Amino acid sequence: ATPMAVMVGTGLGAMHGILFKNAGALEEATKLDVIIFDKTGTLTMGQPKVVELVAAPDYTEDEVLRVAGAIERNSEHPLALAVLERADGITLPAATGFANREGRGASAEVEGATVVVGNRLAMDEEKVALGALEATAERLKGAGRTVVHVARGGELLGLIAIADAPRPSARATVAALRARGVKVAMLTGDNEGTARRIAQELGVEIVLADVLPGDKAGKVKELQAQGQRVGMVGDGVNDAPALTQADVGFAIGAGTDVAIESADVVLMRSDPYDVVGALALSRATLRKMH
Ligand code: ADP
Ligand code: MG
Repeated sequence: ATPMAVMVGTGLGAMHGILFKNAGALEEATKLDVIIFDKTGTLTMGQPKVVELVAAPDYTEDEVLRVAGAIERNSEHPLALAVLERADGITLPAATGFANREGRGASAEVEGATVVVGNRLAMDEEKVALGALEATAERLKGAGRTVVHVARGGELLGLIAIADAPRPSARATVAALRARGVKVAMLTGDNEGTARRIAQELGVEIVLADVLPGDKAGKVKELQAQGQRVGMVGDGVNDAPALTQADVGFAIGAGTDVAIESADVVLMRSDPYDVVGALALSRATLRKMH
């Protein structure tokens, strides 16, 4: 790699908001076999919204929101913010003993009963039967919704269906990478059904779902152990170890400081399509060197 070509390459990137932090990344980027995208905040906008509320028989939608809101008021999860936005105007009761359940949801005591909000795993742990709402939950997941179950005292009060719109360029990004012979994977803590539907919409071939935050880097390692060179694109605090583990880590510029520090390349415009630009630039730079 001639220093001049690298300077021109990194300079051109910077002009387009693609910041290569080191010359090594420019060279490594030409060799990637697979690129893993974090789902929430990377392929999607990361601004989930409640799109449907389903109360169990004997309950109302407002009661579901009131009970769920009491828990989510204590959480910083993006799904919690979506629930709170929808619960705006409803008076929320106090919650004590709040606890996050990593990769599953959250719980607390509300009005003398244990309330658990979260995914199917959280319900299974509490032995909450979905009953009549089981089919509804499956339908919602099949439509690509993230389903937040709300249970009190071991009984399901209802479901909150949440959607996070794909970034406008997500589909084109996946298509362009695949056209260049790079495989594309999507990594998420969300459930398999929801993840598969979104992957299908975006043309993503490999789905890594139900991954706990602490296991993201492990998924990168697994692919590397198969002899693949792995790029990772993410935005969140819990993406940082995976960004470090990857052969090339790309951070979304609007993401967390930790993600940005852990990455080799920063996409200042927060546009996943800039990964395609980064690869094109690295390939062009490397050609000039030989
Ligand atoms: P991700 O950010 O990729 O969704 P997480 O590990 O943060 O991954 O969460 C995994 C799953 O756990 C979420 O998709 C959701 O179903 C559930 N979950 C986590 N935290 C909450 C919460 N505060 N409220 C509702 N559900 C939650
Ligand atoms: Mg994310």
